[in-house]
Amino acid sequence: MTVTKPPNLNLNATLKENTTTEVTKKPKSPSFLVTKISIFLGLTLTHHQKIRTSNMREDEQQQLQTAEELMQQLRSKATELLLREEWKESVQVYTQFIGLCQSQITETKQEASQLSKLKKSLCLALSNRAEARSRLRDFDDALRDCEQALKIESSHFKALLCKGKILLSLNRYSMALDCFKETLVDAQASGSLETVNGFLEKSKKLEYQSRTGALDLSDWILNGLRGKCPELAEYIGAVQISKSEISGRGLFATKNVEAGTLFLVTKAIATERGILSGENSNENEQLVMWKNFIDKVMESISKRQRTRHLISILSSGDNEDEVEVPDVSAFRPEAEERRSSNEKLDMGKILSILDVNSLVEDAISAKVLGKNKGLYGVGLWALASFINHSCSPNARRVHVGDYIIVHASRDVKAGKEITFAYFDMLLPLEKRKEMSKTWGFHCKCKRCKFEEGMSSKQELSEIEIGLERGIDAGNAVFRLEENMKRWIVRGKEKGYLRASIWSAYAETYGSERLMKRWGKRIPAAEAVVDSVVEAVGSDERMLKVLIEGLKGSSCGMPEMERPIKLGKGLYGKLVKKQALKSLLEI
Ligand SMILES: [Zn+2]
Repeated sequence: MTVTKPPNLNLNATLKENTTTEVTKKPKSPSFLVTKISIFLGLTLTHHQKIRTSNMREDEQQQLQTAEELMQQLRSKATELLLREEWKESVQVYTQFIGLCQSQITETKQEASQLSKLKKSLCLALSNRAEARSRLRDFDDALRDCEQALKIESSHFKALLCKGKILLSLNRYSMALDCFKETLVDAQASGSLETVNGFLEKSKKLEYQSRTGALDLSDWILNGLRGKCPELAEYIGAVQISKSEISGRGLFATKNVEAGTLFLVTKAIATERGILSGENSNENEQLVMWKNFIDKVMESISKRQRTRHLISILSSGDNEDEVEVPDVSAFRPEAEERRSSNEKLDMGKILSILDVNSLVEDAISAKVLGKNKGLYGVGLWALASFINHSCSPNARRVHVGDYIIVHASRDVKAGKEITFAYFDMLLPLEKRKEMSKTWGFHCKCKRCKFEEGMSSKQELSEIEIGLERGIDAGNAVFRLEENMKRWIVRGKEKGYLRASIWSAYAETYGSERLMKRWGKRIPAAEAVVDSVVEAVGSDERMLKVLIEGLKGSSCGMPEMERPIKLGKGLYGKLVKKQALKSLLEI
């Protein structure tokens, strides 16, 4: 899967300078720490304190601050930074404190009471550092801090609460739920009962959603899509990854589903959005967005082992036939994290992976709901990127916040590959061939094969050429319908050919003049829409024809069943009827 990227984008060169991250592990010898920390404090303390520290350094270098005094100072500094929400700085000071505290604990001659005091301080510091780290989205490290704190004190309230919040951010709902249940024991005493109950409810809701895929956006939609978008859970429905006849690996349905059924809900590894000025948007704007997007992906790779693992599973466009077929469960947020980090991921490979797998939100097979509508958005949704292109696609996607929701755009049988249209499928074969060329592949889907087989039919190309030269759309429709009878074209294949000159059908059904002339000689709009939807899935242009037809009909109550079914194919079963009607404006 490829997104349109500005040309001459020398990503390799621009990015390398920004992505070298140095990780220095600090030695833990107390004397080293004390010196280091004094310097650090000298830099971050207030002016008044700075003078005091330096004066002290001058006269009593040796007995200077005892470890205890230093710890005191570090602790209040760290707390202050935490309260000021200066997360990065607070992590630094807590790290100094924790190092010092640990070295004190391991010193042999500690009294029992002193030791337990130190352990208490350590536990709290670890929980606080976890909080600050999670604010920096450094979830792996934050989680490790919580676990370390809980090893010291298994029911430490702050550590448990923080762990639960992190697990929730990582979409590990059932683990978060367990964690909040444990937190509940001490919630009353710490005056946080309401907070904990809130998290508990949220985890329950999301855990249920992640098992069932039963998400409902009705209220949000009926409220005019205002406010924060609803909380969504990641979900993997009846799908699996297998070798694809189209290209490399693909996503397949494992059971029969009807239009609108959810296949998956996935949160982006990273997204970047912006406003592009006009149609011929400035190349620089796109370049900056891409650069930011890649930076975000790199940050996530550096912070999260799971991101690194998931990205390494994705295709880089090479050796498509030899790549491993991963189990779909690797994409579940609660899947066991791989501890090894041997996956080879250099910058060049990451860029190829992003090139092949990133998606733009505003695409022919997508709907963007909420505040991101109208923005140019690019993102990486790991599991969704296994979905290949077809000119008779059976899936569409809805973007809500950072989530992608993929659903069936028509009924899909078990074992069928799930496909999107990467480009407009309501075009004749030749036009589609041009499009697929710009995407860097040659489409061999069933519809393309069928239409290639039909290309010897003179009448077909005459109709297409005629349309380009501006012949009467009704005439083109009439001629195609008559010829299909002659050629004995049946079932889905009829839908394929109709989809190829769909614009002529839409123009005819939408024009009173053309309908007066051709209406009685061509099939009814509903029948044609049905056959095209069966062949290429739901699309709003077909829905428009249906709805306009209904509005124009004078026969009492309009028949809503068809548009509702099409609407489900368009938006998925995310919404109850009333909300769907409001989305479709009917
Ligand atoms: Zn095709």
